[in-house]
Amino acid sequence: MSNNKKVVSEITAMDEDFAQWYTDIVKKAELVDYSSVKGCMILRPYGYGIWENIQKVLDEQFKETGHENVYMPMFIPESLLQKEKDHVEGFAPEVAWVTHGGSEPLAEKLCVRPTSETLFCEHYAKTIQSYNDLPKLYNQWCSVVRWEKTTRPFLRTTEFLWQEGHTAHATAEESKAETIQMLNIYAEFCKDYLAIPVVKGQKTEKEKFAGAEATYTIESLMHDGKALQTGTSHNFADNFAKAFDITYTDKTGKEQHVHQSSWGMTTRLIGAVIMVHGDDSGLVLPPRIAPTQVVIVPVAQHKEGVLEKAAELQAEIKKYARVKTDASDKRPGWKYSEYEMKGVPIRLEVGPKDIEKGQVALVRRDTREKIFVPMEELATRIPQLLDEVHEGLYAKALAHREESTHVARNFDELKQIAEEKPGFIKAMWCGELECEEKLKEELTITSRCMPFEQEELASDCVCCGKPAKTMVYWGKAY
Ligand code: AMP
Ligand code: ZN
Repeated sequence: MSNNKKVVSEITAMDEDFAQWYTDIVKKAELVDYSSVKGCMILRPYGYGIWENIQKVLDEQFKETGHENVYMPMFIPESLLQKEKDHVEGFAPEVAWVTHGGSEPLAEKLCVRPTSETLFCEHYAKTIQSYNDLPKLYNQWCSVVRWEKTTRPFLRTTEFLWQEGHTAHATAEESKAETIQMLNIYAEFCKDYLAIPVVKGQKTEKEKFAGAEATYTIESLMHDGKALQTGTSHNFADNFAKAFDITYTDKTGKEQHVHQSSWGMTTRLIGAVIMVHGDDSGLVLPPRIAPTQVVIVPVAQHKEGVLEKAAELQAEIKKYARVKTDASDKRPGWKYSEYEMKGVPIRLEVGPKDIEKGQVALVRRDTREKIFVPMEELATRIPQLLDEVHEGLYAKALAHREESTHVARNFDELKQIAEEKPGFIKAMWCGELECEEKLKEELTITSRCMPFEQEELASDCVCCGKPAKTMVYWGKAY
């Protein structure tokens, strides 16, 4: 037992060493384990359970907006990957290659998909003939491999789980509308299910996806003030269609190129949840994606009727929430810190005195507030409380982001903020790559996005002083 207790109390304090705090949590909350391949993680049941809940909700929303799931092979022949020039250049440094089948060298080496644009394009070139075949609204759930130099569980792994949507449309307007629609779905999902506020915007030329006409992004702010690219949606216009010869006959009988989009979110979302909501006691999970929403901890469980009552409560609560009971012989105090560490949104305590009074104690993970609730009111109080936890987490994350968003009107201000104040920096930009590169080199900040909600903070570029074109969110990023 003392050993168990030690495990729970071993989390490094966030403000002492945020990176170590993060590593402690992913291991101790049993989300992942490291594998024998560097940068590849083992998703344990608790971590995978979060992913399954994310997947369920997103999958439903994709289907509601007309998308269908498909599955493509995990290998891409070298010649196929090379068809779109920018795309292959962008991904080349991160690609893993298969060169042998058994002991035989392959005639053509195969790459392990880093993303599947090329496979979808090849398939679309074959299956799209006329305007009647459009739009194609496909999505794939799979894993991809990118040979990343530095890796961290969830945030940046060599192999990661994701969904990749790939669509083809008749017109440029439609592919643009699709790209924005999916970005909005991502943003709403982050708000409504992960309790994470995001900034929606467009990536600069420098930061956009290899081969895209435009990349849109949702950016969120972590507890330590670093930014995280949380999801992306790309408008390809007809760039890939031209490279892969994807055409259709329009209503007038004319051959036209299709217009395409792609969009993806990954297991990185779980990293965002950890770093936005977690605290010194461990994980804090937003209720709507928590594998367990309510944990029942029986108190003095050896006393007559306690375990029976716990089982009865579990059977009732199961009807409206994901619930489990810990009836193991560990002390209630141990269980309290264990489930706090695992971020379970509500703890339900029930002991002989409670049973006598016909009540239970409910303890919120986020605020640790304890309330006594008559048993017959649980069916309304628990769902209500889960919503309150969600709202509370969102409000806290939003307040943190707002406190940590700074405005810089000239280079001196920018430099001072970049060096002293973690967070987003809003500043005007001339649109030149040179300035972006200078800020990256001198201040180690990158452009996160050109937000859809623009403000005119000043008339000149924060870097070079020439006339500004757009406001940019800058920041240090994961
Ligand atoms: P992309 O196809 O490059 O637009 O990537 C889609 C999304 O995947 C990005 O917006 C990131 O949030 C996420 N992502 C990129 N690389 C990784 C990685 N190595 N591990 C986990 N997530 C990633
Ligand atoms: Zn400039």
